Amino acid sequence: MAALSQLLRTALRPSMRALSSKAAPAAELGAAPGPNFALSDEQQEIVDMTKKFVREEIIPVAAQYDKTGEYPWPIIKKAWELGLMNNHVPVDIGGTDMSILTACLIAEELAYGCTGIKTAIEASGLGQTPVIIAGNAEQKKKYLGRLLEEPLVAAYCVTEPGAGSDVNGVKTRAEKKGDEYILNGQKMWITNGGVANWYFVLARTNPDPKAPASKAFTGFIVDRDTPGVTPGRKEQNMGQRASDTRGITFEDVRVPKENVLIGEGAGFKIAMGTFDKTRPPVAAGAVGLGQRCLDEALKYALERKTFGVPIAAHQAVSFMLADMAIGVETARLMTLKSAWEVDQGRRNSYYASIAKCWAADMANKVASDAVQIFGGNGFNTEYPVEKLMRDAKIYQIYEGTSQIQRLIISRSMIDSAKGKAL
Ligand SMILES: Cc1cc2nc3c(=O)[nH]c(=O)nc-3n(C[C@H](O)[C@H](O)[C@H](O)COP(=O)(O)OP(=O)(O)OC[C@H]3O[C@@H](n4cnc5c(N)ncnc54)[C@H](O)[C@@H]3O)c2cc1C
Repeated sequence: MAALSQLLRTALRPSMRALSSKAAPAAELGAAPGPNFALSDEQQEIVDMTKKFVREEIIPVAAQYDKTGEYPWPIIKKAWELGLMNNHVPVDIGGTDMSILTACLIAEELAYGCTGIKTAIEASGLGQTPVIIAGNAEQKKKYLGRLLEEPLVAAYCVTEPGAGSDVNGVKTRAEKKGDEYILNGQKMWITNGGVANWYFVLARTNPDPKAPASKAFTGFIVDRDTPGVTPGRKEQNMGQRASDTRGITFEDVRVPKENVLIGEGAGFKIAMGTFDKTRPPVAAGAVGLGQRCLDEALKYALERKTFGVPIAAHQAVSFMLADMAIGVETARLMTLKSAWEVDQGRRNSYYASIAKCWAADMANKVASDAVQIFGGNGFNTEYPVEKLMRDAKIYQIYEGTSQIQRLIISRSMIDSAKGKAL
């Protein structure tokens, strides 16, 4: 591990820097103009290093973390040392500003090992993204810089007990008093809620219930140790149990005006704009899980015999494997396409929603098929696919449900068609 860490510090980190999303992405892909599916040497090196990390550090302990629900701090610390976290922090404050496409390659590998651990890592990126896209120089230096100095994590606090898909229903209030805002309200289902060092919090600053979402909300950076911030108990979830999900209460929390992102009223746009960058890596997580299901099912299908032959020799089973491969391969392509689009500096909401929706639905189908191929063993905790099936479900729920992704896709198509018709 020390050697690996050294490799990153000396050789890979500068080259990761060269992978900046602001650098020409075509150069990053080592690509001639036009479609090209080859990874650059640096990307291949990052993938190989992440695979090794996952094989040595995550896979051996994934079942244990799933069982205990402990937060995987030892793995987070090692991932941080290797440079697998905080990848989008700008270069001028010491980050690598990695492309979303390269981040997806890492996300897929981490998810292959354990999506619970991957979500714990990824959620910090979700918390950071509003600051990356909307923070001023001081905010970036203070809050993103802190995450580079030591292995700390951030969290993204938008959802509330009464408002998930319908973000407009957010009730947490922020009232300006002098040079501060006073925050009151409750957030729910916040990943890293109990372990984050700071939060991105969306709150209503315009008390008029008729105010449009685009003007009613403001985004704040809130230090975890501010008086009045109280994370609730760790929720007992169906899957991804290594990840920490909690409600958080904000009671008369005083937030300095310096912690407002952009300005009053900009919060909704920041909170939603974040997803253009974070949904591709979430989709990549679902792809990683799907690939793991496929690998486990294929291995088992070649070992397990019925009627005198390996079950893979039964067409019903081999076709199931083929369908799983079709799902994984196409979801991967769509995920990389959605990442590539945003790396070009283009709005990718349509592609990101297709990728997230398809990868999430695919992961659930593929996980269920893997359990089927394992037969009775698949239903048992001694075998890996039971955990994979439980872990898969959340991909259809967090960062926008599969229904909400379809809403975004259809709206985008309809708007575009109307635009053309005019
Ligand atoms: C483990 C976990 C981690 C999470 N992490 C975070 C986090 O870090 N930060 C954060 O802010 N949030 C987080 N969430 C919240 C998550 O994003 C929401 O749960 C999700 O957006 C759905 O919102 P909801 O639970 O309120 O469901 P609802 O919005 O109440 O939806 C219920 C059902 O109705 C459907 N539905 C709703 N509206 C429509 C519509 N217009 N058309 C069609 N169908 C619709 C939904 O698809 C769903 O099937 C997390 C949730 C979980 C479970």
